Amino acid sequence: MEPSEYSARLSAIVLSSEDAILSKNLDGIITSWNPSSEIIFGFTAAEAIGKHISLIIPEELLGEEDTIISGIKRGERIHHFETIRKRKDGSCFPVAITVSPIRDDAEQITGASTIARDITEQNASDRTAAMLAAIVNSSDDAIVSKNLDGIIKSWNKGAETIFGFTAEEAIERSIFIIIPEYKLEEELDILRKIRAGERISHFETVRKRKDGREINISVTISPIKDRSGKIIGASKIARDITEKAELEQQRKLYLKRLQDLNNYKDQFMVIVSHELKTPLTVIKGNLELLEYDMQEDEQKLVLVKRAMTHVDKLTNLIVDLLDVSKIQSGRLELKMTTFDLTEFLTEIINSIQQTSASHTIAFNHSKEKLTICADVERLEQVVINLLTNAIKYSPDAKLVTVNADVRQNQVIITVKDEGIGIAPEDMDKIFTRFFRVQGLSSNFPGSGVGLYISSEIVKQHGGDIWAESELNKGSTFYFTIPVIEPA
Ligand code: ADP
Repeated sequence: MEPSEYSARLSAIVLSSEDAILSKNLDGIITSWNPSSEIIFGFTAAEAIGKHISLIIPEELLGEEDTIISGIKRGERIHHFETIRKRKDGSCFPVAITVSPIRDDAEQITGASTIARDITEQNASDRTAAMLAAIVNSSDDAIVSKNLDGIIKSWNKGAETIFGFTAEEAIERSIFIIIPEYKLEEELDILRKIRAGERISHFETVRKRKDGREINISVTISPIKDRSGKIIGASKIARDITEKAELEQQRKLYLKRLQDLNNYKDQFMVIVSHELKTPLTVIKGNLELLEYDMQEDEQKLVLVKRAMTHVDKLTNLIVDLLDVSKIQSGRLELKMTTFDLTEFLTEIINSIQQTSASHTIAFNHSKEKLTICADVERLEQVVINLLTNAIKYSPDAKLVTVNADVRQNQVIITVKDEGIGIAPEDMDKIFTRFFRVQGLSSNFPGSGVGLYISSEIVKQHGGDIWAESELNKGSTFYFTIPVIEPA
């Protein structure tokens, strides 16, 4: 190549280079300035040439430039030196520079050429990469990558702790070193999915440690793609859930034991209640005979009547307990019939009124006839429970009011008293099993199952039950039952 052609080519390279290429003499005066220098530093060639190189060097780094020039004078070359330079607008940025001596025909060093590359972006991506590496390294989870043949390519500290292999022991070996033999097929399936670009989230499986011990892990596996989007491997994030799995197993065991105990308790309640019912019936029968015989003996008659009252209470309690166990085991069956609610309520109210002289039970109803379809005996149980509660928990009041109304295909039955009331914090508990409000109401006899049974009966009818109350003012209990439209 002719010398002139050679220098023409060199000059073309300098002109088209993306790096800043500039030269300076030994006094630091800029002697050439390519187009990329203009872009990178912001000065045009006219603005830069003839000026001292300190034009683009931050003040605090001028000493560094003196050292470079001294090296150049000795014929030294400085390769890829990372430092900071200054733009025309005063902003500073990181550069990598390579500085070489320029010699004249007599081999005398006359200056230096500098190639400067703006490494702002590279530094940022280096920083991001360093940050990501730090995250991976400090993670307690095992973070592992493998290629599509299942060869381990990276292995963090978490993986060392969880699987027991060091990074040196694991990298470049097959992922099968941590897979129990009976799970090999599963791993092959995972690799197939990864090749198809699928991600596997929170998959729970078993892996093998270096010491052979098996551990339960939850793993998320994602494909790794190269710049062109081609899948080249997979990253795995695995968490040791052995403790969680053991706790879960323990929880299931306790739950099973609790269910067994609950079943025993239900069976026990059924057996005991049945066994108690028979002798009670015999006692009641005999007391009735005694009562008949002792009509003349007032004193003894009082004793017999008292014994009979207690037998009745015991019988009611046993019936309630049997109902509770029926509800618990889902054996509360309804015998549905169609009947008139107004007539039904009137009969119950009359019968309770006969034995409760202390209170007046008022009955209001919006319709003469209200046909409903329900289990008469069970519904009677609900109404009697609400009425006896209203009387029992309002010892200083005189009035109990029953209402029957129709609202949107539902009859709504209300039992209102002016008694001791219920505190707001107890309102959501009164319908639960065996709950009794503490304090004043525990002075009244009761077992805390009446409202529970009532609410279950109402719910089984497709209705609803609730209460409103104010302490010392009284309570109102509501329940609804679907109405049968006349055909
Ligand atoms: P109990 O046999 O105790 O009456 P219930 O299940 O019928 O059982 O009622 C549960 C609790 O709700 C009662 O112990 C009582 O504290 C409260 N309660 C029920 N009805 C009333 C009412 N009308 N007024 C005030 N408190 C009531």
